[in-house]
Amino acid sequence: MIVYDLLCNQGHDFEGWFDDARDYEKQLGGGILQCPVCGSAEVRKVPSASRLNLKRPDANQQEGKRRQKLLQMVQEHVKRNYEDVGSRFAEEARKMHYGERERRNIRGAASWAEFKELRREGIEAMPLPLHSPSKEKLN
Ligand SMILES: [Zn+2]
Repeated sequence: MIVYDLLCNQGHDFEGWFDDARDYEKQLGGGILQCPVCGSAEVRKVPSASRLNLKRPDANQQEGKRRQKLLQMVQEHVKRNYEDVGSRFAEEARKMHYGERERRNIRGAASWAEFKELRREGIEAMPLPLHSPSKEKLN
């Protein structure tokens, strides 16, 4: 049994287990060998010299997935507990800040200019990518 570090044409690296080198060639040639992430059959063996370099993108990928999951949890929480005020976000946040509105949790969309304006006035707002990363803001 041999283990190869493999890389698909989409840049996913994974391990492949084979009986021997011929088995690897056979699976590769027959299109049986596929990337477990994207299913691409364009897979190649990673030269052992670059193995160390390739461990990092993989670790980053896992870290990325972990963050994605965390972000999803935050998004769920925000969607359930924050009132969506849409494009009136900056206006509503400002009114709450100056006591014209009762304080509550709101979410909505604001432009970067509006966001920076709010921060300058000392209003706590936090950007959160709910739909489009540059538009959605959360108070
Ligand atoms: Zn792939």
